[in-house]
Amino acid sequence: MEVLIENIITYSIVAFLAIGIIYFQLKSNKKKSKIIQGKIEKAKELGFHEPVSLHPVVNLDICIGSAACIKACPEHDILGLSDGKAATINASRCVGHGACFHSCPVSAITLVIGTEKRGVDLPHVSQEFETNIKGIYIAGELGGMGLIKNAVEQGKQAMDNITKNLRRYPKAKYDVVIIGAGPAGISATLTAKEKNLKYLTLEQNSLGGTVYSFPRKKIVMTSPMHLPLYGKVKFTETSKPELLELWNEVLQKNKITIRENQKVVSIDKYDDHFLVKTLDDSFTANSVLLAIGRRGSPRKLGAPGEQREKVAYRLIEPELIHNQNVLIVGGGDSAIEAALSLIDDKSNKVTLSYRGDSFSRIKPKNFENISLAVNSKLIDVYYNSHVVEIKDKSVVLGFINDGISFEKEIINDLIYIFAGGELPNEFLEKAGIKITKKFGEVVLKH
Ligand SMILES: Cc1cc2nc3c(=O)[nH]c(=O)nc-3n(C[C@H](O)[C@H](O)[C@H](O)COP(=O)(O)OP(=O)(O)OC[C@H]3O[C@@H](n4cnc5c(N)ncnc54)[C@H](O)[C@@H]3O)c2cc1C
Repeated sequence: MEVLIENIITYSIVAFLAIGIIYFQLKSNKKKSKIIQGKIEKAKELGFHEPVSLHPVVNLDICIGSAACIKACPEHDILGLSDGKAATINASRCVGHGACFHSCPVSAITLVIGTEKRGVDLPHVSQEFETNIKGIYIAGELGGMGLIKNAVEQGKQAMDNITKNLRRYPKAKYDVVIIGAGPAGISATLTAKEKNLKYLTLEQNSLGGTVYSFPRKKIVMTSPMHLPLYGKVKFTETSKPELLELWNEVLQKNKITIRENQKVVSIDKYDDHFLVKTLDDSFTANSVLLAIGRRGSPRKLGAPGEQREKVAYRLIEPELIHNQNVLIVGGGDSAIEAALSLIDDKSNKVTLSYRGDSFSRIKPKNFENISLAVNSKLIDVYYNSHVVEIKDKSVVLGFINDGISFEKEIINDLIYIFAGGELPNEFLEKAGIKITKKFGEVVLKH
């Protein structure tokens, strides 16, 4: 009898504790879900909830709420757990590197481009990566598939097909002109070399592609990739300098030069060759590979003096800038993040010029940080301002306030312009390449 009572007491305590734990767990989950729901509402309010390009779609019937996808995503608050299931928060901020897709233990995530409401323009390509214009091929993110590894793989495959289908005409100097030196263009260039083709690679900025335009240092590789003329690249996590070193090493070893600062402006098709024009040169080719990604070309201001060397459209190594009067132009996240990255070194004098009268549609964290930096006088912000002229040692800014316009000249050593980009659509259409809108098309599925 005594034992029975003892057992009943023990079981009761265990049951009580278990109920307690479950109760507190449920309460904590409810609290966390409420926070995530709040973030979703905020994202909707700011226009970040609706995806603009590639994004994850969670199958709620399969999702077990492991949160592996949230841990794997290097961007913040793209995904969160709500009611025990993964949910998208700031889907428009997804950069499509697919870490969530690969990390999900139950394959509940699909990567999709566009939504039912918002279509995404994609050029039409065949299985051989050829467009509707015979001889023009596309590889990498321009075709809709994100990720460095995928771009590298497609660059190689597209070049294999170009080699297979190649017809040489006397008028063409090159077998292939490769446009863009991001992961897809680099891989295609290495393959062209491997196949002994006469090739030329043109890049509007410098080697490396999209990842170099963004302030985040960490680069995630979801699985090993095979780089032509190099072999297996095994790192799962790397940095921009490390990746750049790898690209440079393999190119140098194979004596490959990429023509940088060559923006291609048009591709004209003739009966027996293509004519590829850059801003200051032109080249004839039997075929063309477009590896230009989806981010387009940086929009220029059109201000006198913009061609000066001190003007740039991306900030790659802020840690190397000291004792400089820097002007950042723009009011989006890239501009704000660039300005903030420069004040770590107190010797820089950072000024930000923005056409608008306040920062709207930027990440809440950026808004908080820029407000703090402005209040602490670490950054000077000129709202309602625009660049009038860029001089050697100064910049003239123009202002319109209450209908009155005036100018102010400030000392300046460096200018970084973040005025958005010209999307590649116009360029593609001019070359005759057909573009179709994709409304929620699956790009990657288990
Ligand atoms: C913020 C951010 C973080 C990311 N992080 C990761 C990550 O961690 N891991 C990962 O795997 N992927 C990541 N990605 C995705 C990855 O960067 C892209 O999928 C990949 O770079 C696509 O390679 P690409 O060669 O197709 O195009 P891009 O890398 O976009 O390269 C295209 C190149 O073409 C050039 N170009 C464009 N137009 C012209 C023209 N008219 N003339 C000459 N040159 C031109 C551009 O300057 C650029 O260098 C990230 C993307 C972003 C935006």
